[in-house]
Amino acid sequence: MKQKRDYYEVLGVSRESSDQEIKSAYRRLAMQHHPDRNPDNQEEAEEKFKEITEAYSVLADAQKRAAYDRFGHAAVGGGGGGAPDFNSTIFSDFEDIFGDLFGFGDVFGRGGRARTRSAGGVDLRYDLEISLGEAAKGLETKIKIPRWEACAMCGGTGAKSGSKPASCPTCSGHGQIRHQQGFFTVTRTCPQCQGVGQVIREACIHCKGEGRTNAERVLGLKIPPGVDDGTRLRVAGEGGVATRGSAPGDLYVILKIREHAFFERRGNDLYYTIPISISQAALGADIIVPTLIGEERLRIPEGTQSGSVFRLRGMGMPSLEGRGHGDLYISVFVVTPTRLARDHRRWLEILAPFVRVDNQPLERRAAEKVKDIFG
Ligand SMILES: [Zn+2]
Ligand SMILES: [Zn+2]
Repeated sequence: MKQKRDYYEVLGVSRESSDQEIKSAYRRLAMQHHPDRNPDNQEEAEEKFKEITEAYSVLADAQKRAAYDRFGHAAVGGGGGGAPDFNSTIFSDFEDIFGDLFGFGDVFGRGGRARTRSAGGVDLRYDLEISLGEAAKGLETKIKIPRWEACAMCGGTGAKSGSKPASCPTCSGHGQIRHQQGFFTVTRTCPQCQGVGQVIREACIHCKGEGRTNAERVLGLKIPPGVDDGTRLRVAGEGGVATRGSAPGDLYVILKIREHAFFERRGNDLYYTIPISISQAALGADIIVPTLIGEERLRIPEGTQSGSVFRLRGMGMPSLEGRGHGDLYISVFVVTPTRLARDHRRWLEILAPFVRVDNQPLERRAAEKVKDIFG
């Protein structure tokens, strides 16, 4: 195999070039080497076009560029062979770069026409697990999704550069065939073009006529504060393409919130139970309690019963709709001392006559209340 050339050298730019300089260089070279502009020399032009496109797909992506700068071709999977791993902006770049130029808008077949072509992109699902803290604060993250994308060389038509897909002769471009069966008109998908309505005479060398290539793409994802378990985020147009010329489907990110060690979430409110000592319960105390964002001082009043619930207003989860926060409910439970030293026992024995309670069954309603708190 041929030795791979340095990506900067391929685009004729320096290692310090700005994104804009890289984009301009790519645009200029892509115009120059596009196979349609080199009819006498198509094969060589195609090779060249692939090379600059691969170089651009790496250098236009800040992350990949950084990896390439440090580790060279090995870092970006550029070991040769296979489809280059195009970065997430390259298709919109293609539109920017070629969309308005004579001839090219049509070759890449995106822009306005894509919308009128057959629909039926593939919706993708991505399950993402985050912590409760991340759900509360919101999160910017990157996810990697493998998907089918429109082929960068033929723009998804599947047709070899210089040729155009022709209207399917079997269905006259309708994608469906109707025939009469007694009283009924039966419609079925055209077997020759599989409903696309077009056939390819010469297949694109890059995607072998499929009109799509497999890519693994890194997408930035912004998760708003307040999401809950099962929240579904739709990222329009980031799904896969189905067939030649189909528009991409949508990507659905389904969130799972990892269970927290002590916070329990009900709607936007949070709950936990905290132990206090028998003397804190009897005498009162100020204790420091954790919240989602830090710590708060909680006043335990004198004579607090086990199971009492305290509310910290606004210390719950933010509402996804941006309407304030839920509350934090803290229930306390009084820990009975065990393994008392002899003289400590003695003190409790002295205290016993003064803290006597009536050992009568609690009325049902009062008992339910206690059970609710511990249940
Ligand atoms: Zn192709
Ligand atoms: Zn057909």
